[in-house]
Amino acid sequence: MDDLYNRKIDYLRISVTDRCNLRCFYCMPECGIEKSRHSDIASFEELYEMALACTALGVHKIRVTGGEPLVRLGVLAFLKKLGGLPGVDTLCITTNGSLLAGCANELKEAGVNRLNISLDTLNPEKYRRISRVGTLSAALDGFHAALSAGFENIKVNAVLIGGVNDDEIEDLVNFAGKYGITLRFIELMPIGECAGWDKSHFISGETVLKRVPGLVPIGSDGVARLYGIPGTSGRVGLISPVSHRFCSDCNRIRITSDGKLKPCLHSEEEINLRGLHGEELLSAIKSGILKKPLRHHLSEGEISGSARNMNAIGG
Ligand code: SAM
Ligand code: SF4
Repeated sequence: MDDLYNRKIDYLRISVTDRCNLRCFYCMPECGIEKSRHSDIASFEELYEMALACTALGVHKIRVTGGEPLVRLGVLAFLKKLGGLPGVDTLCITTNGSLLAGCANELKEAGVNRLNISLDTLNPEKYRRISRVGTLSAALDGFHAALSAGFENIKVNAVLIGGVNDDEIEDLVNFAGKYGITLRFIELMPIGECAGWDKSHFISGETVLKRVPGLVPIGSDGVARLYGIPGTSGRVGLISPVSHRFCSDCNRIRITSDGKLKPCLHSEEEINLRGLHGEELLSAIKSGILKKPLRHHLSEGEISGSARNMNAIGG
């Protein structure tokens, strides 16, 4: 269905958990998060019913995210059910990759046809510093398992943080070239843990282009500006929500693990979907779509209006 600004809303992101096996310092508090009560989390049956209602309104692409989606028990069976929803042609997952080695084949068999792996650094010490508890080797094992499982179009996402990993732009581009994958540099958004950070930590997409001037523009893919890496089949994507706001092309809605519809990543507006069925559920989703704001205001130096950390939204 269209929203008030004639944007076709056909992409649903479901965060199946706010829990994570990592504690990336820009995303989650060091001490982790308070464990939600079981009854506060929407069951997979409830999330499925919400997703089904969204497909009736025109959603054909679904991404499962988190927290870390692979830590939630039963997620494979859930993915399989989502893949069977009428009209769903694209089923994606976003993961930190650290648990992928144990389930990449099963994800493929479950019908997942797009995989995004978050990898902010190729340096083992830095990986530990950023994730606080993770290991680079587990993430790379996951990446290689995904390649072996036959996933095509794997996208590796790296959030650039000034003074932390901006010295690795060239290395990450070379990584993409070596494996023929798409490496997407994401601008750090001032939300949750990093909302009050100094501006020096923000690295724009333009910095990537200055650092790697040989990249060849090849168009765009939804929210990412795409570039070819000469001499390889690898590509670089620039996702620049702050410096190149893409709100006018926004086609997404989000559902959180506690069953709230978020019309916009950066708005505090949330619509409860739990306990609703049939027409009531449909009309709550429609009202959420109609509440999508025209745009966010990060480009003007404002911080996100969202009351949640990223681990509770899913990116
Ligand atoms: N745990 C999974 C992962 O890391 O891929 C899925 C959830 S995570 C919240 C989704 C994405 O959001 C990750 O790529 C993460 O780096 C990104 N992210 C988290 N906080 C961010 C921020 N402040 N600005 C930009 N991206 C952010
Ligand atoms: Fe976990 Fe992903 Fe947040 Fe890192 S970015 S703490 S892996 S949810």
